[in-house]
Amino acid sequence: MPTHTQTAKTKRPAGADRPVQLTDLTRRFGTGDRAVTALDGVTLGFDAGTMTAVMGPSGSGKSTLLQCAAGLDRPTSGTVTLDGTPLDGLDETALTLLRRDRVGFVFQAFNLVSSLTAAQNVALPLLLAGRRPDPAAVTAALDQMGLADRAAHRPSQLSGGQQQRVALARALITRPAVLFADEPTGALDTRSSRTVLGLLRGLAAQHGQTVVMVTHDPAAAAHADRVVLFADGRIAEEIPHRPDATAVAARMAALETRS
Ligand code: ADP
Ligand code: MG
Repeated sequence: MPTHTQTAKTKRPAGADRPVQLTDLTRRFGTGDRAVTALDGVTLGFDAGTMTAVMGPSGSGKSTLLQCAAGLDRPTSGTVTLDGTPLDGLDETALTLLRRDRVGFVFQAFNLVSSLTAAQNVALPLLLAGRRPDPAAVTAALDQMGLADRAAHRPSQLSGGQQQRVALARALITRPAVLFADEPTGALDTRSSRTVLGLLRGLAAQHGQTVVMVTHDPAAAAHADRVVLFADGRIAEEIPHRPDATAVAARMAALETRS
């Protein structure tokens, strides 16, 4: 089924209004009998100031899509253009720098450093980039996530929802154009999920950032501006407007029974 991103006739100027463009992206793992095509010719764009939910059955290629789009994995063929820069031409160093400055990533499992405080975790990307963290910027990032009074806490002293918000603050400290989130609410209770989803939504709606979130949860997807459903490494369906959870659940169920 054609989607508006695939049928767009005009090529947009690279960069600002479409921070992520994936073109004919294919990712294969392994060779011979054991070869798996995780992504199969995916063309998809993500506009500035939008939040997209990526859904689909387990193994349909969602995580691979995010990893390739974020420059954490290299596609077998096709192009990822991040903030106007095609990644295929970049060596590892240039890729690392672009990723560090322009991309944030959060995972289901938070991935915080347990021996560091919330503030130290948030400052980490700056330290790794060889920059001196500005304490005011770290405080502001924690404050944006509603964690101003948790700066000195270690991950073990925080709830799951608070830990994920520290991970978000850490991902946002470099003010990336794009935030990728792979099942960010997968380990959270309903209430914490809603808080995190509201914050993600705010990044797109108020700060013009591009949010791409993988989720299993139709209620989470209902926070997004659109939903892209994957099956077998391809786009099976796109709901191009803000969907409601019931509609998303129905389409997910149809996909699961089809495959
Ligand atoms: P999803 O996130 O939708 O569950 P994935 O993107 O993780 O799916 O995986 C898509 C397919 O690619 C699956 O069949 C998976 O087993 C395979 N795959 C993913 N990563 C690897 C890898 N590093 N090596 C081999 N196969 C992989
Ligand atoms: Mg996955």
